[in-house]
Amino acid sequence: MGRVDVDILIVGAGFAGAATAYHLARAGRSGILILDREATPGVHSSGRNAAIVRQHVEDAAVEPLMAEGAAVLRDGSLATFERRGLMLLGHSGTDVRTYFPRARGTGRWCPNDGTVDVAGLLATYLADQRVAFNTKVRAWEQVDDAIHVTTDKGTLACNILVNAAGAWAGRIGDLDLIPMNRHLFVTTTLDWVRPDAPCVWNTDGGLYFRPESDGLLLSCCDETPDLPGHYREDPNVLDTLARKLKKLQPGLGDLAVRSSWVGQRTFAGDRRFVIGFDPRCNGVFHVAGLGGHGVTSSWAVGRLAADLINGKQDPLAAPFAPDRLLTEVIADRHNEQELAKLGTT
Ligand SMILES: Cc1cc2nc3c(=O)[nH]c(=O)nc-3n(C[C@H](O)[C@H](O)[C@H](O)COP(=O)(O)OP(=O)(O)OC[C@H]3O[C@@H](n4cnc5c(N)ncnc54)[C@H](O)[C@@H]3O)c2cc1C
Repeated sequence: MGRVDVDILIVGAGFAGAATAYHLARAGRSGILILDREATPGVHSSGRNAAIVRQHVEDAAVEPLMAEGAAVLRDGSLATFERRGLMLLGHSGTDVRTYFPRARGTGRWCPNDGTVDVAGLLATYLADQRVAFNTKVRAWEQVDDAIHVTTDKGTLACNILVNAAGAWAGRIGDLDLIPMNRHLFVTTTLDWVRPDAPCVWNTDGGLYFRPESDGLLLSCCDETPDLPGHYREDPNVLDTLARKLKKLQPGLGDLAVRSSWVGQRTFAGDRRFVIGFDPRCNGVFHVAGLGGHGVTSSWAVGRLAADLINGKQDPLAAPFAPDRLLTEVIADRHNEQELAKLGTT
């Protein structure tokens, strides 16, 4: 047996890594160390999102994790939760004007959804955790039963390496994951926006907005693949937002933007989370590809990841198993080889 410095080493102090560490500790695991390349938590996706807690999503495999996560966030014990409700526009149902007089459309009224204090939530998950900030993981390798992790501060040996590196999770875990840039815009003060107004989501046209700092926070649901950590603002996205507003929500009028930023939502090809042990390497576990749902689902994702690390089975886990990505890679390689044999590549 070689040396082991920590039992569980987690790469990433965003919602994926923090919530996993939180649940591991609740389950009685000790010897957990989180490493993050940045000086503070929330520099990347976990601090660049819209903070909306939305439990109804298109994917039936993801929805139970959203419902479980939202139910816990709603009770407000982890962080301040505003139960403002959310209108999912795009099909017949409730008229949005009941809740947001200047908006237009009908859809599903979700009274229990809302917004959460994301910085507070992340701080709750990280409280009592050992976190080494300013520490970048460069590489890892399996040595006998341990994983040796090389960082810019030295090497550490662990029994389990948790890859929760967000946009970098593909690189850390050799997985096919794509970071997609999305812009968020905050308007100047709008005296007609009630601070407790609901979130409104045009699922058909790709547009959402909610109250923020005396104005509105908006997104036109853009997604552009980019390299991890590249947050280039694209001026064309503001034009897209203006066009969508005019078409879908003309009642909001002309809006002036006070601030904007870009964040990255990281996806597997099938847009499902990647949660589970890596079949290629004993002791490597992924919590990645949380896309646009990592705040709402964080409690449940951390709970599921901790359960699996602790050897508990959970039927919810099957759709998220990393094996599926590796099967695709193997199939692609096989197809390429077959095509090469036929001389078609
Ligand atoms: C614009 C936008 C809007 C969103 N809106 C919502 C929303 O309203 N509701 C919702 O539920 N979700 C939303 N999301 C999704 C949510 O923010 C993400 O799913 C979630 O934050 C992902 O968390 P993470 O821990 O996987 O990634 P991150 O928060 O990016 O954390 C990964 C961490 O790993 C660290 N790291 C990376 N590489 C290394 C390395 N080599 N060594 C050490 N550390 C490393 C990084 O520094 C980072 O801190 C939104 C996302 C975006 C971008």
